Amino acid sequence: MRIFCASIATETNTFSPLRADLSDFKESFYAGPGDHPETPTLCSAVFPVCRRRAKEEGWDLVEGTATWAEPGGIVNSKTWDGLREEVLDQLRSALPVNAVVLGLHGAMVAQNCQDCEGTLLKAVREIVGPDVIIGATLDPHSHLSEKRTDAADVLVAFKEFPHTDFVECAEDCVDLVVRTVKKQVSPELHVADCNMIEVLPTSREPMRSFVDKIKSLEGKEGILSISVIHGFMAGDVPDMGTKILIVADREKNLAQTLAYDLSRELFSFRGTTRPEFLSPTEAVVRAKKAPSGPIVIADVWDNPGGGVPGDSTILLRTLVEQEAFDAAVGTIWDPMAVKTCISAGEGATLKLRFGSKMSDTAGPPIDGDVKVLKIVLDATQDFGESIVPLGDSVAIDYMGITVILNSNRSQSFDPSLFRNLGVDPKSKKILAIKSTNHFYDGFEPVASDILYASVDGPYPNDPKTTDYKYARTDIWPRTDLSG
Ligand SMILES: [Zn+2]
Repeated sequence: MRIFCASIATETNTFSPLRADLSDFKESFYAGPGDHPETPTLCSAVFPVCRRRAKEEGWDLVEGTATWAEPGGIVNSKTWDGLREEVLDQLRSALPVNAVVLGLHGAMVAQNCQDCEGTLLKAVREIVGPDVIIGATLDPHSHLSEKRTDAADVLVAFKEFPHTDFVECAEDCVDLVVRTVKKQVSPELHVADCNMIEVLPTSREPMRSFVDKIKSLEGKEGILSISVIHGFMAGDVPDMGTKILIVADREKNLAQTLAYDLSRELFSFRGTTRPEFLSPTEAVVRAKKAPSGPIVIADVWDNPGGGVPGDSTILLRTLVEQEAFDAAVGTIWDPMAVKTCISAGEGATLKLRFGSKMSDTAGPPIDGDVKVLKIVLDATQDFGESIVPLGDSVAIDYMGITVILNSNRSQSFDPSLFRNLGVDPKSKKILAIKSTNHFYDGFEPVASDILYASVDGPYPNDPKTTDYKYARTDIWPRTDLSG
C-alpha cells in the first residue's frame, strides 16, 4: 500500500483588512516533503498519524508539502496557484498511489477562487482517477461544497470547539481511508443542510450533549463518522452555513435520514448556543467586583483566529477607563512597536504608539509612556500538543497594566502566553485575551471566572447585518426561519 499526504490550510475572513501571501504561510508553518515535525499542527495532524500507521503496518508514505497560515484576509492568486500546483506536482510524481490524505481547513478563499479546498480535491481526483481513495480532515469552521463531497471518499471534521480533538480527527480519517483501501468498508458521504449560521462552542450546552450523542452513534449500523460543519460567518461564499456530514458504509437511506434528523435538532438550538456576551464595560466592571482573580475576559471578536488583525485597543482602553490596573492584556499585534521596544531594551522607558494600525474599527492607537518589562525573541505559546509561534514579543507596562505585544498574529490559546513573557497569570486580577472559544481549555484551570466581551470591530459578528454578496440569504438569522 502506498499513500500520499499533504496539507494546505488557512481560514479566510473575506471581510478582513489583511491580505495573505506566501510569507504568511511561511511565517506560520511551512514544511517541505519530509520536513514535517513529529509534533502535530492543527490541520496537518494527518502527517504524524500517517507516519505511525505506515510504520506499524509496513505501507509506504509519500509526504508532500504541509503549510498553514494563521487565519487572515483573502489569499493572493499567485500564492494559492503556487501552493496548489506544488502539491499536485508532488502527487503526480508519487503515482501510483492507493490513497491520498489531505489535511485541510476548509475556509480558504483566494482572489481567484472561492472554494480552494473543493478545487484542490477535484484536481486530485482528476489526477488519481476514480479508484484511488481520497480522504481529508476539515476544521468545522469551513464551507462544505458539493465539489468537495463529489471528489472525496472520506471527509472528517474536528468535533470539538475548542478543537482539542484534531489528532483524534486525523486518526479517524486515516483509519477510514486505510480500511477503505483494504475494502473493509465502502464509504459514502451524506450531507444535510441546517439552513443556519451560528457560533457553536462545544464546551457548553446544548452542543456538549449533541457532540456526545453523535460520537455514540458512530461505529453502529454502518455509520462510520459524523461531523458537524459549523460554518464560518466571516467567509462570504455561496456555501457558507451549518451542515451535518455523515460518512456511512453503503447504508444510504438510514444515513441520509439520520443526517436530516440531526440537522433539524441542530437547527432547534439556534440562538441558544452562545455564552452570555457582555459589553466591554460590563465585563470589566464585573471582573473588578469579583472577590478573587484571575478573571479572564475574552475579547471574542478581535480574535486573530477568526482572521482579523488582533490589534484592537478597545478592551485595554476600557480597563483604563474603569481603573482596572491590576490586569494583563495578551496580546495586541504590533510588529512595529515590538521592534521599537526591542531597540529600547529591557528596563527602558519610552513614549510609544501601539495597537490599532490596521483598521478604523479597532479604536484609536494608544499613545503613552511605557516601560519594557521583558523581550522574548521567537516567543511561543502552547495549544494542546502543538506550539504556536508569537514571533518576537515584548511585555510592557502601560499605566500599571502589563500588555504583551507580538509580531506574529495569533489568538490567545493558553496561559503559557503570559508565563513565557514573564507574567504570572495567577498574579493578576484580570487577564484580557483575544479568542472566541479556543482559549477555554487552556485558561479554565487558572481562571476563577471567564467572561465573554463582545467588542465590535473588524469581525462581522452579526449575520443579520453583515453586508454579504455571495452567502445565501435563505438561512437563519439572515432570514427568520422558524422550522
Ligand atoms: Zn475552527
